[in-house]
Amino acid sequence: MPADTALSPEVLEALALPRFTGLDEARAAGRACVWGGEPLVIETAVDLGEQHDSTAGTWFPRASRQAVAERARRAFTAHAPACPACRDEDQVDCPLGAELHRLTLVYTAVRYCSRCDRQIAPDEDHATYQSQQASGPGGATVYTHSRPCQRQR
Ligand SMILES: [Zn+2]
Ligand SMILES: [Zn+2]
Repeated sequence: MPADTALSPEVLEALALPRFTGLDEARAAGRACVWGGEPLVIETAVDLGEQHDSTAGTWFPRASRQAVAERARRAFTAHAPACPACRDEDQVDCPLGAELHRLTLVYTAVRYCSRCDRQIAPDEDHATYQSQQASGPGGATVYTHSRPCQRQR
């Protein structure tokens, strides 16, 4: 998905990509999330694109999907109130706001409602709880819509 990985410098600045200097080896090499430091596997890694550093030269930071979604959501929350275009929901002419919103949607884990089996949108209210499984070790995390499920069709 090449389109997902093309992050503009403005977006990376809004996400607060750390400087290369001071990173541990795993983060600098892109084996760990550049923000959270958790080890990355292919399925959960987001390529943040080629970066240039005056001392290190070229480096390729990567992050977990969860970290990108969380960072993008927070960056949008911080950005929107001061941005006339983003304050007006009908306007779509803020590239930064649109990109931050897109990243939040793309990288937020998909959740399904255990009552109606429909997908819960990232910005939709939902409840989270642990299911109790008598046989298994620990329960699974279960999500439901906070509001009554809507029956479509
Ligand atoms: Zn904006
Ligand atoms: Zn539901």
